[in-house]
Amino acid sequence: MSENLSFNLSASSANSGANGDGIQHEKVIIIGSGPAGLTAALYTARAKLDPLVIAGHELGGQVALTHEIENYPGFPEGLSGQELVELMKSQAERFGARIKLFSAVTEVNFRDGAPFRITTDDGAEYLADSVIVTTGATPRHLNVPGEKEFTGQGVSYCGTCDGFFFRDKEIVVVGGGDSALEEGLFLTRFASKIDVVHRRDALRAGQTLQDRAFANEKMNFIWDTVVEEISGDGSVEGVRLRNVKTGAVEDYATEGVFIFIGHDPNSDIFDGQLERDEFGYVITDKEMHTNIEGVFAAGEIQDRIYRQVATSVGQGTAAAMSCERWLAEQE
Ligand code: NAP
Repeated sequence: MSENLSFNLSASSANSGANGDGIQHEKVIIIGSGPAGLTAALYTARAKLDPLVIAGHELGGQVALTHEIENYPGFPEGLSGQELVELMKSQAERFGARIKLFSAVTEVNFRDGAPFRITTDDGAEYLADSVIVTTGATPRHLNVPGEKEFTGQGVSYCGTCDGFFFRDKEIVVVGGGDSALEEGLFLTRFASKIDVVHRRDALRAGQTLQDRAFANEKMNFIWDTVVEEISGDGSVEGVRLRNVKTGAVEDYATEGVFIFIGHDPNSDIFDGQLERDEFGYVITDKEMHTNIEGVFAAGEIQDRIYRQVATSVGQGTAAAMSCERWLAEQE
């Protein structure tokens, strides 16, 4: 994993300063502000590396949209994703991490080695002696007619955000994984009926969630079926369903479509620079090194299997410790 070692020591001694071009120079830039990024910020801040987190447009990423987190150790009563993100942020800031909000990275140059050049959508440019990539993943789309048109008008990818608008309404949830059932169960607080449309006749979700979903009288399952089209007039009024076994097509009335069919990694800006797998996830070794010396990755950008707050926190820790070690070796 040694693509380049052209580390510029005079540059590495700078920290949070401007070089001759007026470009801000950092020891560590963390791209992304989910659990992996905020944990990496905490660890690198405690190591006196004065990290800068470029947070993206939604602090906390996906976890901030999660209604309730019950499986993150240390919080026996559970807490909201928003609360957890705020706690992680303030813990990192307490040790000096700087978190730049409402700013997203649009371009990176990892090819030419450290210091790495990073550009953001507010026109800022940075040089970084090391980078920790924690850009996470984005909910996958069905890519059917009507989906884009009715997003925000009945089509949603976030029960926590939009459930409130579906009080006493009948809605469709698409997917058969943990997200579909977890979000579907949350949506039973609002909706009068939930039809879970799944393309197979067996769920992918874990048994506990399955048991809770089957026991909930508001949840109904439509098996072996896909949504082919979403229709309406200003807002969603129905979906066209197709049974994948019989081929039968049915127009089905509904006022909302919640889509939970997995995620895609937010790795496009690293295309051609960071090695990625067939699904677009950044490839790292166990120490969170990418193929570029001085660039590390953690969290859902490199983990398509576990995708938990707890695992992202662990990976963020490992990336920060490897980054710290790597910077020390360059001096
Ligand atoms: P997932 O496990 O990948 O499940 C995606 C579901 O959507 C699958 O049932 C899949 O069907 C279906 N699907 C995929 N593409 C589709 C398409 N084009 N049309 C129709 N259906 C489609 O994704 P997830 O539920 O978002 O979960 C991701 C990861 O996060 C998992 O590891 C999960 O365990 C974890 N997670 C955990 C929790 C928790 O522990 N409480 C909560 C949420 C998520 P098939 O089954 O046929 O492939």
